[in-house]
Amino acid sequence: MQKRRKTRKIRVGSKGAAGTLYIGGDATIVVQSMTKTDTRNVNKTVEQILQLEEAGCQLIRCAVPDMTAAKALGKIKSKIHIPLVADIHFDYRLALEAIAQGVDKLRLNPGNITDKDKIKLIAKECLKNKIPIRVGVNSGSLKKEILKKHKGHITPAAIVESAVEEIKILENEGVKDIIISLKTSDVVNTVESYKLLAKKCDYPFHIGVTEAGPIFGGSIKSAVGIGILLYEGLGDTLRVSLTDNPVHEIRAAYKILQSLNIIKKYPNIISCPTCGRCTVNIKKIVDEIENKLCKGTTCGAPTGPITIAVMGCVVNGPGEAREADFGVACGKDKGVIFKKGNIIKTVKEKEIVGELLRLIKKGTRD
Ligand code: SF4
Repeated sequence: MQKRRKTRKIRVGSKGAAGTLYIGGDATIVVQSMTKTDTRNVNKTVEQILQLEEAGCQLIRCAVPDMTAAKALGKIKSKIHIPLVADIHFDYRLALEAIAQGVDKLRLNPGNITDKDKIKLIAKECLKNKIPIRVGVNSGSLKKEILKKHKGHITPAAIVESAVEEIKILENEGVKDIIISLKTSDVVNTVESYKLLAKKCDYPFHIGVTEAGPIFGGSIKSAVGIGILLYEGLGDTLRVSLTDNPVHEIRAAYKILQSLNIIKKYPNIISCPTCGRCTVNIKKIVDEIENKLCKGTTCGAPTGPITIAVMGCVVNGPGEAREADFGVACGKDKGVIFKKGNIIKTVKEKEIVGELLRLIKKGTRD
């Protein structure tokens, strides 16, 4: 795995305030998401953010389609515990209102705002309030001129050219707290674009594969794209975009980080795919353990960095899962419980989950 690319370190949130975090530099990789509620509905939006917080979301973005949504941001912010990002397109007034409402970060492409004086106004307020801006170049939003220059193709070079243009607009106004995303729904294009831009600037990267799709395909696509980027040392904050409950985005994000050994604070459940030797319902056992340890849809478990193995047979189970902290190898109507490859007891099939959880709890207290 490549060493993380050196970038600037950017603060998101007021100094000393609860939830304030850093993106880039030596800061740990930040997991973020975006609400899917109508931002004008404060209660629903706050409810979703609190669910995301419980799942481990560290930074949340809300769409700001109009002035009512912009004016709701202050109320939303007062009821949550993580930094709030306002997602703005085209209308500088919405950006100014979001800043006045106390948001911690803007997602805005200055190239979308044609009047330079309005950009100056936004930049001035951002500098005064120490609010960073994420420039988000998406394949669908490339300027006609850039597309024409690249023969109508959305190439990494075209995406990077667009990003550099956006960055320059902000730099000309003195803004240096910039985070960049270059998202396309094509994994290879996305990876190549980030690699290219990494040679041109030291701003932190927000990574992800946009419009990745529904939960199954979208998680895989995101894992491939984000996984490659992280392996290459590129990525300071990430979002998995899924057409589903955003809590799944957080869960997928942590799974990606966990798969690359970037975080170790959550339980790692390994289970065999089963084969003709298996005589019990392994899926049911794994689901029950995951739900108990990972609180259903969230991944914030109290057990910490342990590996639990659920194996379908005693022939290969304990040996294949020797590295696991705890595990079970199932046989007909029974389960052989083991710890670090050593068998410690045999229980009835219906007692497997309870016994394993009891031992995990006891073991993590020892
Ligand atoms: Fe098959 Fe046993 Fe391996 Fe599971 S652990 S895949 S049941 S041999």
